[in-house]
Amino acid sequence: MRAWPSTLRARLTLWYTVLLAVPLIAFAAASYVVVERTLERRTDVFIDDALTAFSRELFAERRAAMSVVQAMQTAVTEVKFRDLNIAILDADGRLLVMNATGGTSEELSTSRRPSATVEQQLLAEVRQRNLAEAQALTVQGTTAAYRILSRPLSVQRQQFTLTGAYSLADIEDVLSQLRDLFLVAIPGLLLVSALGGSALAKRSLAPVAAMSAQAAVISASNMHERLPVGGGDELVGLARVVNGLLDRLEESFDQQRRFVTDASHELRTPTAVVRTEADVTLSRGHRSEAEYRESVTVIQDAARRLTRIVDDLFLLSRADSGHLVMRREPLYLEELVQEGTRSVRSVASERGVEIVLHEVVEAPLAGDADLLGRLLLNLLDNAIKHSPRGGTVDVAMQLHGTRCEVRVSDMGPGIPPESAARIFERFYRVDSARSRTETSATSGAGLGLAIARRIAEMHQGTVELALSRPGRTEFVVTVPVGALG
Ligand code: ADP
Repeated sequence: MRAWPSTLRARLTLWYTVLLAVPLIAFAAASYVVVERTLERRTDVFIDDALTAFSRELFAERRAAMSVVQAMQTAVTEVKFRDLNIAILDADGRLLVMNATGGTSEELSTSRRPSATVEQQLLAEVRQRNLAEAQALTVQGTTAAYRILSRPLSVQRQQFTLTGAYSLADIEDVLSQLRDLFLVAIPGLLLVSALGGSALAKRSLAPVAAMSAQAAVISASNMHERLPVGGGDELVGLARVVNGLLDRLEESFDQQRRFVTDASHELRTPTAVVRTEADVTLSRGHRSEAEYRESVTVIQDAARRLTRIVDDLFLLSRADSGHLVMRREPLYLEELVQEGTRSVRSVASERGVEIVLHEVVEAPLAGDADLLGRLLLNLLDNAIKHSPRGGTVDVAMQLHGTRCEVRVSDMGPGIPPESAARIFERFYRVDSARSRTETSATSGAGLGLAIARRIAEMHQGTVELALSRPGRTEFVVTVPVGALG
């Protein structure tokens, strides 16, 4: 069994009770000791004062009396103190005189008077001590304890011992009442405070319970729901942090959902083309070789397009999940620009577009040549696609401090202003209806610019649409460069 409770509420209650119990018990114990000591001291002062008063009376009586013992007997009957037994012993410890206790009523004096056996016990205790010196002792009788003070007494050069025994029954009564009070009051107070602490803890933790109940029902299907905000600054802060987390999760869930929907949408057209083309071709028994070639070419184009889309999706999803490992090898960006423009030159000339590479600057950096090459190709590919026959695609490099800019511009129709802000989104195409039904391998799925931007970001760079109007569209890539270590 575990002694430490598992719920926060029980722990708080326990701590609260323990923290209250420790000072409470310490306070009770200290008060008890103080009361006990004070009463003891007062008793001693009382007995001492009484013995002094008795001695004074004895000396007064002595003048009038015939003998010392007679004076003693008179003094003992004259001087009576409540609950105090006075006795005088001679030098050998023999009892000479002893009074009965005084008091306001007869019962009281008899009730406080020690029984004969106790009297003997008390005298025996006194006799055991050195009678020539003052003594103070506490003796436990059968029913109560007695405080005894004894002092030497010299009368007419004879030595005696004067003793006073005081019953501690009243004091014990007071102390026992105090103990009883503490025994009832302390557990009672602790019980009340534990119940109060538990109720307070329940109240303070109620918002946490509400939050966890709400968090338990939030799932993918009701992602828009949020935790209740309330219950003190700390809990408000916690609820806000968790709600912020839920906001981000919801956004990324939505993104994923859109991504999957868009991706399946994109893949539908080429797969449908492949299936329909195959169905139609195979539906008739005999076809000429030219007809077969034609339909296989259509299927090949659709398959290329499929491959390209799947490759792009794969690259993006690896980049998103952090599985796309980017190499950081020393390279010269101008070499990639030269290589890129060279590789698209034949495709461009097929479309009647000229590629012009303007100024080239030395731009060393540590990066992934394949990925940067892909970025440049995506921009060049778009520029060529959108250029009119006979148009020119201009490529230029410029250094600005530690950053290098690569500009790719074409003479195409430009991007409508309402689309300019969205072209970097995944699957976004300016003329989506047209390009989706296109089956050529070059027609994209709206992922080219998204990939370009992602690659630039991986190199701490950017890709922006710098200019767009009919007859001129310009994209600019900016990446940090520096001497290769
Ligand atoms: P895709 O792979 O379909 O070309 P991109 O992400 O590369 O997709 O481009 C998104 C959209 O931006 C395309 O639909 C295209 O219409 C438009 N676009 C991109 N580059 C140019 C350009 N140079 N001129 C005109 N429109 C362009």
